[in-house]
Amino acid sequence: PQRTETDLNALIKSSLELAAYGLRSDGIEVVEELDPDLPKLSADPDQIAQVLLNLIMNASQALQLCEGERRLMIRTSRTNDGMARIDLIDNGPGVPEDIRRRIFEPFFTTKSVGSGTGIGLSFSHGIAEAHGGALSLEPSEAGAHFRLELPIGEGEE
Ligand code: ADP
Ligand code: MG
Repeated sequence: PQRTETDLNALIKSSLELAAYGLRSDGIEVVEELDPDLPKLSADPDQIAQVLLNLIMNASQALQLCEGERRLMIRTSRTNDGMARIDLIDNGPGVPEDIRRRIFEPFFTTKSVGSGTGIGLSFSHGIAEAHGGALSLEPSEAGAHFRLELPIGEGEE
C-alpha cells in the first residue's frame, strides 16, 4: 500500500458523499456514529476508500431487496488492541448461513450476470490484510454486519 496519514472518519464521509445520490434515491437512511477521537492511520487512502465503497454498495444492493425501512449504520471506534474499527451494519436480508464462508472467495457472487462480479469482497479482504488489518463478516441476528479493522500504528496519537 501507498501509505500516508489517513483520516478514516473523513474517508467514510467522502465515500458516503459519493454514494449519497443512490442511497437517497433508494430510500436508505444512513446512520453515522463516528468516534471523533479516532487517531489518524498510516494507510493507503485510495485503497481504503475503495473498500468502503465496496461495502457501502453491497449494503445498498442488499437493501433494495428490503420492503420496509432500509438502514445502513456506519460506526467507528478504537479497540483496546490498537486497531481502528469500522462496523457497517445493514438491515437487509443478511448472508445465508451456507454461503458465509464463501463470500470472500474471488468471483463468488449471488447476483445476476452484469450486476455482480464477485470480486469486491475478495479484493477488499486483500487490501485489509495488506494493511495488517482484517475484514470479516460478524455474526448478527438480522441483516449483515461487516467489520473492517486497521492498525493505528505506534506513536500516532
Ligand atoms: P458482488 O457484489 O459482485 O456479488 P462481492 O464480493 O462484493 O461481490 O460480494 C459477494 C457476495 O456476498 C454477494 O454476491 C452477496 O451474496 C454477499 N454479500 C455481500 N455484502 C452483502 C450484504 N451487505 N448483505 C447480504 N449479502 C451480501
Ligand atoms: Mg460487491
